[in-house]
Amino acid sequence: MSAIVFPEQTLHGPYPLTHDDIHAVVLEGVPGVYVLGTANSETNLTPEYVGRDDSDLRRRLLRWAGEAPSSHFLFKHVTSPEEGYEEESRLYHQHEPGRNKIHPASPEGHELTCRHCPPIEAAGADRRPR
Ligand SMILES: [Zn+2]
Repeated sequence: MSAIVFPEQTLHGPYPLTHDDIHAVVLEGVPGVYVLGTANSETNLTPEYVGRDDSDLRRRLLRWAGEAPSSHFLFKHVTSPEEGYEEESRLYHQHEPGRNKIHPASPEGHELTCRHCPPIEAAGADRRPR
């Protein structure tokens, strides 16, 4: 697991994982990718979970607010399932967040292959040590 140092190349944040902050910065009814984590300082966050919502990122984050042990989130709106899967997979492999037990799934109806996987595990298998 590696810390995310800000500004991250594509993500907005970090923002506190609260209803008010989510409503203030995340659009309604738009797909996106997010990272939950704990902010260590103004410029550094330990990622704990990477996720994606193919229809409504805001609704997904609101569900996490008040439940997740994470204090902060980062996010990015995406314009297609392909972009969402690509971004989520990049973050998953780059940071290997401790609460992600399995590799991100391809969006429903799309048979996408992760280009960040080591070649031998390109089928999208769980690559975390047990
Ligand atoms: Zn992969």
